[in-house]
Order: sequence, then structure tokens, then C-alpha cells
Amino acid sequence: MSNPFEYAPAPESRAIVDIKPSYGLFIDGEFVDGTGTAFKTVNPATEEVLAEVAEASDADVDAAVKAARRAHTRVWSRMSGAERAKYLYRIARIIQERGRELAVLESIDNGKPIKESRDVDVPIVAAHFFYYAGWADKLQYSGFGTTPLGVAGQVIPWNFPLLMLAWKIAPALACGNTVVLKPAETTPLTALLFAEICQQADLPPGVVNIVTGAGDTGRAIVSHPDVDKVAFTGSTEVGKAIARAVAGSDKKVTLELGGKAANIVFDDAPLDQAVEGIVNGIFFNQGHVCCAGSRLLVQESVADEVMDRLKRRMATLRVGDPLDKNTDVGAINSAEQLAKIRELSAIGEAEGAERWSAPCDLPANGYWFAPTVFTGVSQAHRIAREEIFGPVLSVLTFRTPSEAVEKANNTPFGLSAGVWTDKGSLILSMANRLRAGVVWANTFNKFDPTSPFGGYKESGYGREGGRHGLEDYLKGTSVKGADS
Ligand code: NAD
Ligand code: MG
Repeated sequence: MSNPFEYAPAPESRAIVDIKPSYGLFIDGEFVDGTGTAFKTVNPATEEVLAEVAEASDADVDAAVKAARRAHTRVWSRMSGAERAKYLYRIARIIQERGRELAVLESIDNGKPIKESRDVDVPIVAAHFFYYAGWADKLQYSGFGTTPLGVAGQVIPWNFPLLMLAWKIAPALACGNTVVLKPAETTPLTALLFAEICQQADLPPGVVNIVTGAGDTGRAIVSHPDVDKVAFTGSTEVGKAIARAVAGSDKKVTLELGGKAANIVFDDAPLDQAVEGIVNGIFFNQGHVCCAGSRLLVQESVADEVMDRLKRRMATLRVGDPLDKNTDVGAINSAEQLAKIRELSAIGEAEGAERWSAPCDLPANGYWFAPTVFTGVSQAHRIAREEIFGPVLSVLTFRTPSEAVEKANNTPFGLSAGVWTDKGSLILSMANRLRAGVVWANTFNKFDPTSPFGGYKESGYGREGGRHGLEDYLKGTSVKGADS
């Protein structure tokens, strides 16, 4: 028996969600049939088909952009910030009221554990709407102007479907923009439930449009000539394609792409807490996290001890049914992602790193991968350079702070980093030297609507969250504050 503590199953009821057999597109305040084909979304924990979802064609995207333009010119940009705020507060309150429904649906469509969707994703989603509602009538104090850009085309990934929607929609609306948003093809259902919430909140038609589909639909949105602003979160590869597609246009663009974050543990760190932080850094959300702490840099003098404690802790992770309230690690989001994780892990072994996986019984159906750690990893190994986007940790060691900085920055990415030490001065000097948009100290994967988030280098550009998150949704001279 791998787990010394056996828990009785504690499944969250799925009776609260009402999944329809098929969904249309949300355009101009109404659900309409698309003119294109349809695709299926599945529950990755069971492979059960959940629903058929419309695949928006170019014509559908055009209709959505036109609706967004009308709503922008006639209604939303003319409304006072205080009036817009009322809608955002209303949406935030409905998200809280329907929080359990949103969390259960998110876990069913995505595979993430209910304790994460319920206690992390949905509360932060509501917090984002509350936070940006507070900005809507105070834009003159933002330093970025008060004039919206117009229509925002927004494309998001599958790892945090509702949270990425909130990061995109809340600041856009607060600033007076209207949006056309496309959720990822494997996780469209909570965005469609959010569309219902917009109706419930009496949001004026066309302010939010949700179009479902895959890469072609995304391309139609970002290349549409009447879209003023493109906001994308996803892979670096697609991010580069988008940057090329909009080059030469006057569209404003923000890209939030991949990462390969270093989580750096010094020998004076409280090791049990650091181990919790390592686990949270890479196994939270099955490691489907752009800012995941996927490279552990541990000081040589404590490396063996940290590895012993880490493996002991990993053996207690409960992998399985995402709707079970005791589950720590849920299902991999798709068969494609599972294949990619398996491929890179096999390459890690072939290149000579040593693989250890937590002993656990994986369910027979669905997409699963046991929490895994590689030791003896060198900087040249592909598992040290490429984003695996799964529950796989690569461990490297270092002797001095300078060596840690050099190794941490030796990556094409620059999204996040973590530092574990007892010394405040070391935290500050490391934070200054690490080329990463976010540096966490003695914690990891903490998200707050008031904090800006974004990358350097191939992790993208632009910031989401905080006052900075307003900048890319407003026209005018940007005034960099002292904290920019
Ligand atoms: P992706 O970049 O292919 O997809 C992200 C979104 O972009 C989806 O909605 C997709 O439909 C859309 N899209 C795809 N091609 C497009 C195009 N040419 N133009 C416009 N939109 C397009 O990412 P993925 O397939 O979901 O995952 C692939 C890899 O991306 C992952 O393995 C991981 O490494 C990385 N990823 C990063 C993040 C992140 O938060 N930074 C999130 C998900 C995935
Ligand atoms: Mg799905």
C-alpha cells in the first residue's frame, strides 16, 4: 500500500451542474447556432463525452466582432466608469453565488481537483472581477489614461479556463472595452456558463461574446481587422505566430506564454516548508501551470535531505477522481498533453537523468500521469529546457547564490521563480538578479488580483493583474510609476 492514510471516497455531487447535450455561440447577448461544424468536449478523468460545442467559423467570428463593436460604440464606452462597475460587481457576486456550480463544472471539463477549482480558481475569479470593478471609476488615477481601445480579441488556454477568462475579461470591461473571447477547445464549458452569468447580470448585449472552436477560430479572432487589441495566453509557438500575424497592424498585443521556472532552495531554508512549496510548485493543477516551479535548484549541501523528504511527501499525494474532495492530483487534460508528457519523460531517461515516480494506482480510464521527479539533470537536458506542462520535476543542484542565478536564468523563458531561504537580504539580492516576471519568496504559485503577472523573453510581454493590467486596455501615454 503506497499511502499510509487511506481516505473513504468523498465525492462532490455533480447534480448541481446542468450540462446540455450541445452548445451554440454567445453573440450579442444570445446563444446562437454557429454556421460551422461542432466538436466534442470530454471529461479527461473518464473520457466521457460531455457535450457538443459549436466550432465558430470566420463568419461567426465576424458577427461576434461586429456585435462587440456596436456595443462598444453605442453603449459600453459611453457609460460612466461607475455604471460599468455596477455590472462588474454584479458579475462578481453571481460568480460567488454560483461558485460551487462553476467549480464542479471546471473540474469535470478540465480534470483538476475540486479542492483547487473550489478553493483557488473560483475565489480568485470572483476576486478579479471585484478588484477591476473597483478600478472602473478610478481610471484617471491609473496613470494610463481613461480611453478604452475598443474591441479586444482574447484567446485562452485550457489549464485555468475560468481564471484566464477572468484575467482577460475583467480589466478589459473595467476600462470600457468590449470582448470576443475564445476558450480552449478541451475546456469550453465554464466560459459558456459565464456567458449565462452575463445574461443573468443583464450585461448589455455584445459587451461579452464567447466563441468556441480551436486554432482556426483563434486565428480568425486575432487577425480580424476590426479587433483593436489581442490578448493571448498559451504556448510560445502559437504566441510567436500571433505576433507575426498582427505585425504591421496597429493592434495592441499582450502575450502570456510558457515558462520553465526555477524554484531555488538554499540550505538555510525551512526544509519542510520548502518541500510543501516544491510540491505546490510542480504538482498543483497537475503541473499544467505556465509559472510552475518545474526546475528545482537545490543547494548541494541539503540536496539529499530535500530529495528524501520530497519523495516521502510525494508518496502521500492522492491521485485520482477530480471530484473527490481529498484528491491532490487530478487528470491530465487531454490525450495529446499526456502523450507530450510521456514523450519528454522518456527523453529525460534516454538522456541519462534518473526517474522516480510516486507509487500510486492510476484509474483505468482517462488520462493520468503519476507525480514524477528526475534527479541528475543537467542544464543541457531537454527536460531542463523545455516546458513539460505536467507533473514532472527536474532537479539540479548548485553551490553558491551566483551559480543558482546563472542556472535559473539559463532558459529561453522568464515567467516566474521561487527563492527559499531564511535570509531577507538573500531574497532581495536574488529577486534583483533573476530574470523572471514574478519572484516568490518562501512561497510559490500565489496569485492575487492586485499583483501584476507576466513574463520576460519567450514567456511573452505585457502584464495582467494589478494597476499594470489596465495599461494594455487603455489608450494614451503610459506613465510608468515607480513600481512599474
Ligand atoms: P496553444 O497555444 O496551442 O493553445 C492556446 C489557445 O490558442 C487555445 O485556445 C487554442 O485554440 C488557441 N490557438 C491555437 N492556435 C492558434 C492560432 N494559430 N491563432 C490563435 N489562436 C490559436 O496551447 P495548447 O495546445 O493548449 O498547449 C500546448 C502547449 O502550450 C502546452 O503543452 C504548454 O507547454 C503550453 N501552454 C502554456 C500555457 C500558459 O498558461 N502559458 C497554457 C496552456 C498551454
Ligand atoms: Mg474537456
